[in-house]
Amino acid sequence: MKRKNYSSEEIEKKLIEKGVQPTLQRIALCQYILCVADHPTADEVFDWAQKNMAKISQATVYNTLGVLTDSGLIRAFKFPHTEKIVYDCNIEDHFHFFDEKSGRILDIEADSVKLNLDLPKKYKVNSIDIVFKGEIK
Ligand SMILES: [Zn+2]
Repeated sequence: MKRKNYSSEEIEKKLIEKGVQPTLQRIALCQYILCVADHPTADEVFDWAQKNMAKISQATVYNTLGVLTDSGLIRAFKFPHTEKIVYDCNIEDHFHFFDEKSGRILDIEADSVKLNLDLPKKYKVNSIDIVFKGEIK
C-alpha cells in the first residue's frame, strides 16, 4: 500500500481541499489514520487519541471519523468477520486479505484479482468488496 508520512501541513492542505475545517484534533487523527494505523476500528482510533492527544471525547473522535469518511479522505468498511467498522486510508480500488492467525487486514491490489462478471444486465454494480480469508505463509 502506498503509505506516506504526511506532515501536519500536508494533512491540513488535504483537509482544506476536501472542504473540511482543519482543526488540530482533525489533523492529528487524520495523520494517525493516514500514516500510522492499519485498518483501525473506531475504538482503536479512540484508544490512540486518548494516549496521544489532550482530552478528547469519544464523540469527537467518532464525529471526526464520520467527517473524514464523508469527505472521501478515508473509507469505512464493514468486514464480515467483525461487527465493527474499519477505517481505511487506502481510497483506491482494492480488495482485502484477512489473516486468520493475526487478525490483520491487508490490502490486495485490484490488479491482482481478475474478475469475470456475468451478471444480468439489470444489475448495475457500484462497488465490490472482496475479503479473502486465510493465512500468510
Ligand atoms: Zn484496505
